[in-house]
Amino acid sequence: MTAAICSALVDLARQRQTELDERIAAWRQEPGAGVRLWCGPGCGNCCTLTVNCTLAEALAIRAVLDDPLWDRLTATTEKILTHARQCGDTRAFLSGYRKAVGPCPFLDARANCSIYDHRPLACRALLATRPPDWCGGNLAGLSGYEREAFLAGLDRSVVAFPTHYAAVPRELAAESERGLALAMIRFFGFGVTGNLPLLVWLGGQDGWEEALAGWPAQFQQFLNSHNINHPFLVQIEIP
Ligand code: SF4
Repeated sequence: MTAAICSALVDLARQRQTELDERIAAWRQEPGAGVRLWCGPGCGNCCTLTVNCTLAEALAIRAVLDDPLWDRLTATTEKILTHARQCGDTRAFLSGYRKAVGPCPFLDARANCSIYDHRPLACRALLATRPPDWCGGNLAGLSGYEREAFLAGLDRSVVAFPTHYAAVPRELAAESERGLALAMIRFFGFGVTGNLPLLVWLGGQDGWEEALAGWPAQFQQFLNSHNINHPFLVQIEIP
């Protein structure tokens, strides 16, 4: 039963991802949305940031991973868990993530996404209105003057200020993510979102489906057994 529900969630995630691509394409055709977007093949600068996704999307990725990708995912997950153990709060976790964990395990040697057709909504919606250096750099390290110049160069009618990423795609993705979280709540009574590599890895661990079916005690025990009961790694929504 749980396997059938997970399969339905995966189908729904793929449907929502296709819909998001279509909605973003439609947005780009709208008058006034003709902003230059710098994203393209061979640029994985934003893939060194923390990415969150819904459980449904993580399960969809888990279903297509081959052994080499699984090995890379496992190595990255170990780094994430080590980093999480050393951080007391979300702020410390996020600010040190790039240095401690490195790029997404699905980024290939040519800086392309090796699971491109299956990448989560958050990745599809992160579209840069400034050159790639701004995605790979550490904005917190800018001087006051540099930061002011960066902010002054942003088109506030387009970006999710104070970032240089277009706002509309992110809003559309948030709507779709919400729909997936609500679908999971309908099926299981609770929703799960969290760190992308970690959720994909969790979906491949023994006892995963039983833990979902045994919410709340069995699921909490499952998280504890993997030492991942941190709010900045896995977020649980209870209606
Ligand atoms: S899933 Fe793909 S697009 Fe998303 S962060 Fe990883 S490599 Fe980049």
